[in-house]
Amino acid sequence: MTLAVAFNVETFRQQFPFFQANPNWVYLDNAATSHKPQIMLDSLQHFYASANSNIHRGAHSLGDQATQLYEQARQHVADFIGAEQAEQIIFTSGTTAALNQLAFGLMGTVLQPGDRILLTTLEHHANIVPWQLHCQSKGVVLDVVPLTVDHQLDMAAFSRLLQHQPKVVSFCHVSNVLGQVLPVADMVQQAQAVGALTVIDGAQGILHDTIDVQQLNTDFYVFSGHKIYGPTGVGVLYGKTKALECLTPLLGGGEMIQHVSFDHTRYHQLPFRLEAGTSAIAEVIALGTTLHWLAKQDRTGMRQHKQQLLQHGWQQLEAMPQLELLSSATNNAGIITFNVRGEHPTDVATLLNEQKIAVRAGQHCAMPLFANIHHPGAVRLSLAAYTTQAEVDAAINAIRMAVELLC
Ligand code: PLP
Repeated sequence: MTLAVAFNVETFRQQFPFFQANPNWVYLDNAATSHKPQIMLDSLQHFYASANSNIHRGAHSLGDQATQLYEQARQHVADFIGAEQAEQIIFTSGTTAALNQLAFGLMGTVLQPGDRILLTTLEHHANIVPWQLHCQSKGVVLDVVPLTVDHQLDMAAFSRLLQHQPKVVSFCHVSNVLGQVLPVADMVQQAQAVGALTVIDGAQGILHDTIDVQQLNTDFYVFSGHKIYGPTGVGVLYGKTKALECLTPLLGGGEMIQHVSFDHTRYHQLPFRLEAGTSAIAEVIALGTTLHWLAKQDRTGMRQHKQQLLQHGWQQLEAMPQLELLSSATNNAGIITFNVRGEHPTDVATLLNEQKIAVRAGQHCAMPLFANIHHPGAVRLSLAAYTTQAEVDAAINAIRMAVELLC
């Protein structure tokens, strides 16, 4: 057994060249995308410089080596999330692509006219629009779990809406706006008790917590590589074998077939059936390398560090009467969302940008959530394990200065 390396923010941060290249920036937009460790960059460089070949085409040994690296990455991802088999890992281009595959693939197999899907008010557009794209034409109905007055997911309403017996229940692990961590294990259990398939959008959750999909018992879990120190252009659709077998492929083409004729096409077995065309080979391999590396870090230490920063930042922002905090300090994966009273969030972000504080402002691809909480948008500070307390303090000073200018 490999012992985890005890967490030290400075040592961890040194592994990310971005910070040496940009010493004057404070990057607090980690929920949008994370920075990349050298080990990930080396993996990309190594593949393209020394091992580049297409995979699964087998006419030469270079292709076999590339295939081996690619399939090893699948195993690394499976190990990282505790999947039973590597074949349960489907590589996609990201969370959005995975959710589109699920929405398309379940229509007509699991979902029939008159069936219901249950989502929550907290969802990112990527977990709303793919379902909507098909619901109307297929006669499937969407239900939405509301929030309580203090912006928490209304778990009583969740249980009540399950009485409509949805066939699919899809929800985020962590809200990308409020940082709220949902009680996903409980939600999976309740949804499965009424016979629903469960989908967890792990775009934000994958980095927050150590995931064990078997323990969670969810039917599907999806995430993007770029939010967990990996490259863009690659994501993961995990599914239980039986659940994956329900999916009609969204993409057809090479590699996903066993036999093609103009009369009839027979699909390949999993996972290839759901990976049409040439994959983002280098990115998949680099993601596998990154997750293999990350699994050996002190993830508990990382989480504790982020929590300390969250509490530290929170206390100072909470003390500023000009601010309205939208997220909560408890049960939060590391996101502080706020508005300066009476000011537009974009104006605040622009002032922060002038001081080289990178945050996000707007509706964060979650318009229904903002409509629900009656805000035009918000400023979001999102922390990562490589964030330092000095950076949080710099951001808070910059917010103070912005408030002085605006108010
Ligand atoms: N779901 C959530 C909760 C997210 O935060 C995001 C991105 O911010 C997505 C889905 C979409 O991820 P991607 O753009 O990587 O496909």
